[in-house]
Amino acid sequence: MTNTSTHSKPILQDSFGRDHAYLRISLIERCNLRCTYCMPADGIKLSPKSHLMTSDEIYEIAKTFVKNGVTKIRLTGGEPLIRKDIPVILEKLATLPVTLSITSNAVIIDKHIVNLKKHKVNKINISLDSLDRARFKEITLRDQFEKVYKNILLLVKEKFEVKVNVVLMKGFNDDEIIDFINLTKDLPISIRFIEFMPFDGNKWDIKKMVSYKEIMERVSASFNNKDIIRLQDASNDTTKNYKIAGYQGAFGIISSVTNPFCDSCNRLRLTANGKLKNCLFSASESDLLTTLRKGQSIEPVIKKAVEAKFKVRGGMDTLKKLQEPKLHNKNRSMITIGG
Ligand code: SAM
Ligand code: SF4
Repeated sequence: MTNTSTHSKPILQDSFGRDHAYLRISLIERCNLRCTYCMPADGIKLSPKSHLMTSDEIYEIAKTFVKNGVTKIRLTGGEPLIRKDIPVILEKLATLPVTLSITSNAVIIDKHIVNLKKHKVNKINISLDSLDRARFKEITLRDQFEKVYKNILLLVKEKFEVKVNVVLMKGFNDDEIIDFINLTKDLPISIRFIEFMPFDGNKWDIKKMVSYKEIMERVSASFNNKDIIRLQDASNDTTKNYKIAGYQGAFGIISSVTNPFCDSCNRLRLTANGKLKNCLFSASESDLLTTLRKGQSIEPVIKKAVEAKFKVRGGMDTLKKLQEPKLHNKNRSMITIGG
């Protein structure tokens, strides 16, 4: 429903009273990396180009969300920066009254700095799962560690607000938790450890996941407890935030598996082929692009989708349900959702 009683502007509110002011738009299903937890080993069936939103359609759909209370838009993918018309998309979206941000693997972000600055895209989330070149190649299937690392330093130098997303996997990169935190000693970045999540085709197994609890045990074993400072989380923040006393940066944990943050969820997701997902874990989708192309209003479709949102993780409200492949495999693979 769109509730106007307590807000000066309409807001998309679901049946549990959660207001949705944040839209993540996936611009593309393709990527220049092949992270094994994101892209299924056999690849994915790409949507035909004609089924993907054009820059005009992205703008039209975004405008409708903004009219209904969205104030934050994050661009994601696939890799959003490999979309050829990214400058046009940024230019159009920058005319809307929203905070615009982007999630990228940073491989080619150095070529986009000027444009990002021009359109006030200041908050940048970068994926980096290992500080070791060989491991980076093992997980992404591409030898691009140095490029990514150099680009993170460049973004910091250029005064962007940088968060680095690290998906932890047991026996693969969990021995790097402290190395990542130590990066925050001299760099004003935020490291965010993400619990490995199940999506179609990513061979998820709870035994591979490193939990919030396990991460904090490692932190406690390496630092003095009095130096581990719990920070105040922003409202609707998905991250439990910490810092080490005296360090410039911070770190946090996104615990969608063991400790979901659904109560304060304010997010909606638009896939590159114009489908609205009311939750990252939701198997159902609402086709906004076809509706728009028919010349019909997308507003009723958006409102119906928001109303249908489950309370917790697309209906997988227990860890037992999340672990059932027949439930989590109904969802898309992450690369086609847009994380
Ligand atoms: N290509 C960009 C990037 O890598 O940052 C944007 C898209 S990527 C799908 C967005 C985020 O989703 C990344 O931080 C990635 O690590 C995260 N992600 C992908 N698959 C995941 C999974 N199975 N569990 C947890 N996080 C995942
Ligand atoms: Fe590409 Fe990002 Fe997925 Fe890695 S996590 S394959 S960089 S979309």
